[in-house]
Amino acid sequence: MSRLTKEERKDRWAQFEQAHRVRKLPITRQRRAVFAAVLERTDHPSADDIYDSVRRELPGISRMTVYRILANFVSLGLLCKTCHPGSVARFDPKIHHHDHLVCVECGAITDIETERPARVPLPEVRRLGFEIEDYQIHFRGRCAACRQAAPKQAHRQRRKPIQPQRRIRS
Ligand SMILES: [Zn+2]
Ligand SMILES: [Zn+2]
Repeated sequence: MSRLTKEERKDRWAQFEQAHRVRKLPITRQRRAVFAAVLERTDHPSADDIYDSVRRELPGISRMTVYRILANFVSLGLLCKTCHPGSVARFDPKIHHHDHLVCVECGAITDIETERPARVPLPEVRRLGFEIEDYQIHFRGRCAACRQAAPKQAHRQRRKPIQPQRRIRS
C-alpha cells in the first residue's frame, strides 16, 4: 500500500491544474483541499472520510460540496472511483492500472501492482452489444489484521446466525 512518490504527486498536481485550465474551471480552495485529501491517503477513502478530513481545514464546507467535487474529479479523470459489493464508493488517487485486495471483514482495500498477464481471456460479449474497455481484479479475502484478530475457526463460530427480522404489528 504505497503512497504516491513526490514526483507522482507533482505530476498529479500538474494534471489537476491542466484539467481545470482546459475546462475553465476555477481552482477554489475547496477543490484544492479535496484533491489534497485524496492524494495523501492510501486507504481508498469514502466520500465521508474525505469530508471528515477536509472539514478540519475548511469547517464551512458542506458534505454535498465534497461529494460533488469528488464526482467531478472522477469525470475529469483526476481520481478513480472503486466500488465493491456491499461497500460504499471509495476513491483512489492512483489512476494507473492496478488491482485490489478487498478485506470482506473490515473493508480495507489494498493496492497490488504485480505484473499483469500480457493476455487475459476476455469473455465474448460483443453479441450483447458491449465493448470491453478495461477490467479490474478484486481479490476478496481477509486482511492480516483481521486474520490475527480472529483466526478462521473462531471467526466462523463468532458469526451470529441470521436472526429473523422482528415484525412490528400494525
Ligand atoms: Zn480486514
Ligand atoms: Zn487502488
